[in-house]
Amino acid sequence: MSAPQRATTSSTPTGRFAPSPSGRMHLGNIFAALISWLSVKSKGGKWILRIEDLDPQRSRREYARLIEDDLIWLGLHWDEGGLDNKGSAGPYIQSQRLEIYEKYLSILSPYTYPCTCRRADILATQAPHQSDGRIIYAGTCRPSAFPAPPNPAPHSTRILVPDEDITFTDRLYGPQTVNLANQCGDFILRRADGAWAYQLAVVIDDALMGVTEIVRGSDLLLSAAQQIFLYRTLQLDIPEYAHIPLLSTQEENGRTRRLSKRDNDASLEYLRSSTSPEIIIGKLAQIAGLRPTDSPISAEELIPYFHWEKLTPVPEIILR
Ligand code: GLU
Ligand code: ZN
Repeated sequence: MSAPQRATTSSTPTGRFAPSPSGRMHLGNIFAALISWLSVKSKGGKWILRIEDLDPQRSRREYARLIEDDLIWLGLHWDEGGLDNKGSAGPYIQSQRLEIYEKYLSILSPYTYPCTCRRADILATQAPHQSDGRIIYAGTCRPSAFPAPPNPAPHSTRILVPDEDITFTDRLYGPQTVNLANQCGDFILRRADGAWAYQLAVVIDDALMGVTEIVRGSDLLLSAAQQIFLYRTLQLDIPEYAHIPLLSTQEENGRTRRLSKRDNDASLEYLRSSTSPEIIIGKLAQIAGLRPTDSPISAEELIPYFHWEKLTPVPEIILR
């Protein structure tokens, strides 16, 4: 199968931050942004800001503006992307890239089929974070032969996954083996209402934007296998994956849970009114293991302290 290759051929280390503008950022989001930024900046590379607004119900332009404003306040400056689409591999706003996704879906069409099951559809535009649970599709609509016969009824589009192990090495968590048939089944590339799925869009965008390393929360480790499968099927260059621990908070009953928008004291709104960027970055640097103290430091000053070897592959970091 012939597939278009990535647009940029340069080997400049390229990272990205790909927030969904469905709310204000919290400390966990900033942690992922900071490590991604430091990793690529410590190699003299560039950092892209991509706005993942595929879900029309949840995405707001105002949140994207606040995300930009918060990143600037923190000193995490992007080289390409953002709402003004700076750079040559844009647009960097997913809702402006729909024709690109269309083209790649047609390349994948020998392996896709229409699905009229309704339940899982709605979640497809969002990255599957831990708290969302995981739906394993039973293959109800899978045709007995491919190419699949057309279905005029409203349907989502799924891709047939092989019943075999996908192996890859995560920069922090090491070797991973994932069987997609057991872990998620045939997954959605496009929702019945026409919205594009996160899994498809993220692969196409990272590939076409020349992203060489993906740094994000460990709850997307399984998604990496789905994404690697798409890279292989489309014959695109697979980036390096580095998942990082999630930040959690301890509840009164002693249980821990991932930080979320409920945690007001971890929201940027609260943090910006009560503390400074250097204090936040100093604290994140310490919990990441980059520095022994949590004394204030700017993002820029932290670059020389960054080494992947200093991070520990724990499942979560509990904030105290
Ligand atoms: N928009 C996704 C999220 O906010 C990005 C996930 C990723 O970095 O691949 O969770
Ligand atoms: Zn189905």
